[in-house]
Formats: sequence, structure tokens, C-alpha cells
Amino acid sequence: MKIEVFDIPLEGLNIELEDTPKIDGVTITQPFKAILSLDKKGLEVLVKGIITGEVELECSRCLKDYKMQIKTLIELNYHPIEELNREELVELKRDEMDVDFYREGLIDTDDIIRDQILLNIPMKPLCSEDCKGLCPICGTDLNKFECQCEVKEIDPRMAVLQSLLRRMKKYG
Ligand SMILES: [Zn+2]
Ligand SMILES: [Zn+2]
Repeated sequence: MKIEVFDIPLEGLNIELEDTPKIDGVTITQPFKAILSLDKKGLEVLVKGIITGEVELECSRCLKDYKMQIKTLIELNYHPIEELNREELVELKRDEMDVDFYREGLIDTDDIIRDQILLNIPMKPLCSEDCKGLCPICGTDLNKFECQCEVKEIDPRMAVLQSLLRRMKKYG
């Protein structure tokens, strides 16, 4: 949905909308709902609200698909990109964390929702904090089964820790 900044009334604008943006590599399993309020101060627009929805991600350890709820509060300060020169842009970016820009007098709520989804997807998705992952040798899902593989190579960091522990036991 595109909102004309010119059309935002002085008392502000409240909107509720649903959107299922297409994002490469992201499966949306529940449409995203946004409840937003827009307030205008000159050419600046403050967009506040809440965005909720659900995506399906692949666990980076066990490769299982799992669903993740996204619920995020936003507070964005929109400036018209055409009104700014480069120096002002730099100033704004330094002063305000959540500055965004609109073009040609239009704020695109699709972009807001898309950005929030991307911001909330973890770099390394995990189906659960303590996911055991797959056995590196036989590929068994260690969350469900145990396997008999002997993992011979010990992570060098673990080896250091183990020898440290042995020494502590000796002297402790
Ligand atoms: Zn997992
Ligand atoms: Zn195994």
C-alpha cells in the first residue's frame, strides 16, 4: 500500500493492513499484519506501530523446517529523500537510528513490512536454542536418535579445554 504523505491529515492517520510480500528465500506462512500510525511534522513523517506474522525457516544445524513468529514494534522517522543533500543525509544518519526515506511523496508500507521481516530473520536460524544438529558422519538427526559414530577429530578448541581440565584436576 502506498500512502501519499500529502494526504496524511494533521491529526494523523491510523491504518491496519495485511501483506504477504515476496522475498527470495523466505516462506511466509502467515500473512503479515501491520497496525500503523502516521504523524506528519512538516515533511517528516513518524511511523509507529506493530507488525506481526510468521515465516518458515530452515534450521542451520539440523536442516529441519520450522516456523517462527515475528512480532516487532517499529518507530521510523521518514524524510523526503529529494529534500536532502548529501551532508544532511550524513547528519541524519548519525543523529537518528531509525531514519528512513520516502520518494516522490509516497510511503510504501510494503517496503516497511519487507524490511522488518528481513531484519528479524536470524543469520543462523535455529529450530531451538539447544538443537543438537546432525551427526557429521552418518547424518542422523541427533535430536531424534543417537548414533554409534565415533567422532575422532576433536575440535582444537575443545582439545585445549580438555587438557586444561585435566591439569586442573591434577593440581586441584
Ligand atoms: Zn535444528
Ligand atoms: Zn552418526
